[in-house]
Amino acid sequence: MALELRPNCESCDRDLPPHSTDARICTFECTFCADCVEQRLSNVCPNCGGGFAPRPIRPATEWRAGLCTSKRPPSATRVHMSYAGDDLAAHIARIRSIPPEQR
Ligand SMILES: [Zn+2]
Ligand SMILES: [Zn+2]
Repeated sequence: MALELRPNCESCDRDLPPHSTDARICTFECTFCADCVEQRLSNVCPNCGGGFAPRPIRPATEWRAGLCTSKRPPSATRVHMSYAGDDLAAHIARIRSIPPEQR
């Protein structure tokens, strides 16, 4: 199993290509940009409530056979979160003060 490397931020829809240093993921690979994670989401995943970490960068160069972005390409399926408004705000408000390791 490898990461899907989803192509966009689920919140603001900006592109997050495999080499992006702005991509953040939760353990389920819900994918957001650093700005949304820090400013909009307060490090609370809208989907699972977990925290985020920087998404590792898959090499473009085939350093080892078959393991690079051209042989193992990123997902092309754009994902958009299904929560918004009061529901999202309440979800973040009840979780944000709990450190991810205690959620
Ligand atoms: Zn974003
Ligand atoms: Zn999540």
